Amino acid sequence: MSSVYSSDFDRQLAAALSHIDSILPWESTRYPRIHTKNELFAALVRPPSAADGPGIVYWMKTNNPDGSIESKAGFSNDPNRRLGEWERQCYRSDFELVSTTPTLHARKLERVVHIFFKIADLWKEPYCCESCSVYHREKFEVDEFGGIPAARNITEILRDLVDA
Ligand SMILES: [Zn+2]
Repeated sequence: MSSVYSSDFDRQLAAALSHIDSILPWESTRYPRIHTKNELFAALVRPPSAADGPGIVYWMKTNNPDGSIESKAGFSNDPNRRLGEWERQCYRSDFELVSTTPTLHARKLERVVHIFFKIADLWKEPYCCESCSVYHREKFEVDEFGGIPAARNITEILRDLVDA
């Protein structure tokens, strides 16, 4: 836990934030007060919760009937099983597992990733799905941000900080 505040971590964090600074508009138009750089920083330095542990932060992609693409970020110990659960639950969507990032602190990394992509204004409001009557959450439109390769790259940068 002390490693969270080591100078190595500080250097790594500064480098990562500098990189993130260059690609992210920090003034969110959708969430001007809630999701800020400070919130991301606070989430990064906060120690993992007692319930946290190793897992995989994944991205799944969905092609909607209207032609739009949604990506979902979540965590699981078994993303393929999670994929199967979604496919059984929601027949409207064709989910595709497109990125997996192993981490020592899956809950923390998921939270940090969600904050990042909310700051980037790519978050979709949760909506009640007409097909499965479940609220679809944690959906993001990452295409304008560089798509899944960019989302994976950011997830790995954040993972290195979360696991430091
Ligand atoms: Zn659905």
